[in-house]
Amino acid sequence: MKITKIDVKTVPISSPIRNAYIDFSKMTASALAITTDVIKDGKPVVGYGFNSNGRYAPTSLLNERFIPRLLEADPKDIVNEEGTNFDPHKIHAILMSNEKPGGHGERTVAVGVLDMAIWDAVAKIEGKPLYRLLADDYGNGEVDEKVYVYAAGGYYYPGKGLTELQDEMKRYLDLGYRDVKMKVGGATLKEDLQRIEAVLDILPKGSGLMVDANGRFDLDYAIEFGDNIKDYELIWYEEAGDPLDYYLQSELSKRYPHAIATGENLFSLQDATNLIRYGGMNREKDFLQFDCALSYGLVEYLRILDMLKEFGWSSRRCIPHGGHQMSLNIAAGLALHGNESYPGVFEPFGGFADQYAVEDGYVKLPDIPGIGFEAKSDLFELLLTIG
Ligand SMILES: [Mg+2]
Repeated sequence: MKITKIDVKTVPISSPIRNAYIDFSKMTASALAITTDVIKDGKPVVGYGFNSNGRYAPTSLLNERFIPRLLEADPKDIVNEEGTNFDPHKIHAILMSNEKPGGHGERTVAVGVLDMAIWDAVAKIEGKPLYRLLADDYGNGEVDEKVYVYAAGGYYYPGKGLTELQDEMKRYLDLGYRDVKMKVGGATLKEDLQRIEAVLDILPKGSGLMVDANGRFDLDYAIEFGDNIKDYELIWYEEAGDPLDYYLQSELSKRYPHAIATGENLFSLQDATNLIRYGGMNREKDFLQFDCALSYGLVEYLRILDMLKEFGWSSRRCIPHGGHQMSLNIAAGLALHGNESYPGVFEPFGGFADQYAVEDGYVKLPDIPGIGFEAKSDLFELLLTIG
């Protein structure tokens, strides 16, 4: 059993939107295909991977370092004991050979892309959806039949006023989402409060709102902003300050009385551990948003889940960033809280299987081997053009 080739290409996922920190007009992603010599249904098994939005395509790192490292490995060193399937953990160790600890940089994204493709191939070889494989091999054998998803939007956009913001949120509700998230921090406090109130005005009973500052605030403003929104009863207040500023996070946690969410820009087990140790996060009410497709992949994410368990956190506090099918599988197979979703943005990588619409804030997963990319036609069309 061996990998016969690995192809990768850079694709644009550009969009005119912006959050409090970046615009997405030049955003790119790496799309990657691992072809194996395992034959299923008369064809070689191919695993696909890509990086999540918010970080640029790590294609050169893949081409110069990580793909050669994997292709140069002895085929017997990348398979399980029985030789019946590839071993993502052994492959992770090979990818991380000759890499010093710390200073993670963009390599976390490159390894995340390869890791996704490996798990896709492994589940296809096993003949199971990835969520089923995860529940059987790493979980309690139980799969969540449907996964909670919320619509993340409310970006700043040239010419977008309060009415357009309300219309956008109404569209998400019409699509079947129950809860919605909007960006804050890219306007004055007064304007942001008006935007929040405009959205709250149109949300029906039973629907909730999250706000996301994308790491924009310093400590004083994070606290001032929190003081100003605390009576809105938001579902959460996301990424107020710099993701690595655990002091800010812990001071904010002392002051802000409701749920906080963060973690999408923490890209390693060590960073996640530091957040739990020093960030003052509350395991009863806060949310963790680590995104495996940006942070060394599912092998690292499994280690993060183990770490959380040691600190007494339930996997149900995790709701990954990114809105992609990889995290949706993890959510269904490993009992997470849910998954992010970006209706109509970051296409075709964002979104889920064609045949399942979101219903009352939940989405189902297709019963096909692998991550399920073949059930999302626009994405699969793009993946077929790699190589
Ligand atoms: Mg966010």
